Amino acid sequence: MKFYIPTKIFKGRDCLANNYKELLLGKRAFIVTGKTSGRISGALEDVVNILDSNNVPYAICDRIGNNPTVEECFEAGKEAREFNADFIIGIGGGSPLDAAKAVAVYGVNSEMAPMDIYNCNYSVKPLPMVAIPTTAGTGSEVTQYSVLTVTDEHTKRSFSTEDTFYKVAFVDGKYTENLPVQITRNTAVDALSHLIESYTNTRSGDMTEYVALKGMRIWGKKIKALIEGKFTADDREELLWASTLGGIVIAQTGTTIVHSMGYPLTFYKDIPHGMANGLLLTEYLRKAEEVIPEKVEILLLNLGLNSLDEFEKVMKVLLPNDISFTKNELNEWVQTTVKAKNALTCPFEATLEAETEIFENSLL
Ligand code: NAP
Ligand code: FE
Repeated sequence: MKFYIPTKIFKGRDCLANNYKELLLGKRAFIVTGKTSGRISGALEDVVNILDSNNVPYAICDRIGNNPTVEECFEAGKEAREFNADFIIGIGGGSPLDAAKAVAVYGVNSEMAPMDIYNCNYSVKPLPMVAIPTTAGTGSEVTQYSVLTVTDEHTKRSFSTEDTFYKVAFVDGKYTENLPVQITRNTAVDALSHLIESYTNTRSGDMTEYVALKGMRIWGKKIKALIEGKFTADDREELLWASTLGGIVIAQTGTTIVHSMGYPLTFYKDIPHGMANGLLLTEYLRKAEEVIPEKVEILLLNLGLNSLDEFEKVMKVLLPNDISFTKNELNEWVQTTVKAKNALTCPFEATLEAETEIFENSLL
């Protein structure tokens, strides 16, 4: 078993202001954020104030879209190079945080073509990075993964190396306080999905199981707030921490088929990432229950739920949608999802039949 998490994590209210020197990883900063998230969360202003008062020049790329493409990260990487940035600050949800990892690679490897990022063998080590999450879902601040949209391949794909972990993460729930209710729910379900996919993963071990169950206990206590759509500062703090714990465990085990099967839902139907996972989670767990019934029982217990039927009800309330699917499109998507590498760490055999059944029972 291997447990590796090189990110220095600062947690809690005002952790950035209280540890501002840790933000200053270099002499020229390139900030990667979304169109609105940096500003709405207040994190961008806090970062800029610290850089200004420490005379650190910076450039801001604030046009990262949701589910960022390889091309847009490549362009931002060029800008970082032209600016001579020597460190990267990612601010936002998983989209900007993942994009920042790609920018850190492209920013020092001028000979690379965009798709070379998937070789995961870079001549120059990526620039050091700092993360400030503004959603509580992906855990990208503590994972080595960057999930990008590959338009030509009609899907999303991740790259990762031991050098694409953030060096420092500031995990402060106050930056998630302005998140709209439905984005809060979608992203919370992504975090839950990470905790569950790691706990049920064939690669799980003592350390990851311990952390995943802790994350599920925190998450379970927030179900009421998630359903009511009302969050105290403590709720925000805890949902964000559950998300960071989810990141820590998938950094070790990876995810399983819920994530790979969720990607076409996002690519073809524009369904937000967390919601895509949540639509598939119950049927995934029903299949998992056939082979690891004790684990499924323990995870439900830690969430404070009595049965998978109750779990399903929570997902339905949190993820209202009227999206329709056809059998044909599901049959087409499954041809690709069944080949994903995380099918290999699924607790049951992720055959074409098994994935088809999960798709059909979840979505038709
Ligand atoms: P996101 O795409 O980063 O953001 C969703 C929406 O929330 C955006 O419109 C964003 O605005 C807005 N937003 C973010 N923070 C806000 C705040 N504090 N207040 C108000 N609005 C805010 O969503 P996400 O679910 O966090 O990230 C999804 C991406 O992460 C996907 O590409 C997924 O594949 C990836 N992912 C990565 C990992 C990993 O291990 N690295 C794991 C799971 C998922 P802006 O558009 O202005 O930013
Ligand atoms: Fe995810």
